[in-house]
Amino acid sequence: MKKGKLFVFSGPSGVGKGTIVKRILDETDVQFSVSMTTRKPREGEVNGESYFFVSHEEFQKTVDEGGFLEYAEVYGNRYGTPKKQAEERMEAGIDVLLDIDIQGAANVKKVCPDGVFIFILPPSIEELKHRIIGRGSETEESLRIRLGSVADELNHARDYDYCVVNGNLDEAVQTVKAIINAEHAKFSENFLIELLNKEDV
Ligand code: ADP
Ligand code: 5GP
Repeated sequence: MKKGKLFVFSGPSGVGKGTIVKRILDETDVQFSVSMTTRKPREGEVNGESYFFVSHEEFQKTVDEGGFLEYAEVYGNRYGTPKKQAEERMEAGIDVLLDIDIQGAANVKKVCPDGVFIFILPPSIEELKHRIIGRGSETEESLRIRLGSVADELNHARDYDYCVVNGNLDEAVQTVKAIINAEHAKFSENFLIELLNKEDV
């Protein structure tokens, strides 16, 4: 059976990753990998949907058990991708989408070199600041940390397979969907195996 693909999204805080991800989940068969985090939930965030919100002890227990595909400290909190669910889905032929930071993406690349790495860029730094402030989710301190990381994060865009500018949301979503389709159309031995098995040639 054909395995599912791993799509990895990164980009600076407030660029619109979560917004694009929601649209991709609604409009494609790709499934989201819900991360574990020690960050406190924002208003409206549902446990098990945006994240599994856990204590520091619970997070460390999962680290010790080898339960993460990758994990990292980002903006002062810990985040990790649960290994089992992502691997099971891909084995079952389901595409999996990760929204993770640049450190996590670099670690995933080591264990899943066939992953598709997509960096989301803002149309301008001014607009990025406008969006993250407009979201109203951050304290002054958290805003300072997140905005202070932007230049370093953008410098890692060159390590990714694709860059998508999230200016107009519909256009960004269309571009991501085009990438997903193109990745599925890449030559793979499975195309021939399936075809030759189906027909008596
Ligand atoms: P991230 O997940 O990258 O931190 P979010 O998805 O939470 O970012 O988006 C940050 C803010 O920007 C949200 O208020 C969201 O509604 C807004 N936003 C996202 N994409 C766009 C866009 N293309 N144009 C305008 N606002 C956007
Ligand atoms: P936020 O707190 O805004 O939801 O996320 C902060 C940062 O953590 C974002 O860059 C997001 O992509 C990243 N992140 C979310 N989940 C994970 C994860 O499981 N692993 C890693 N390495 N980063 C994550």
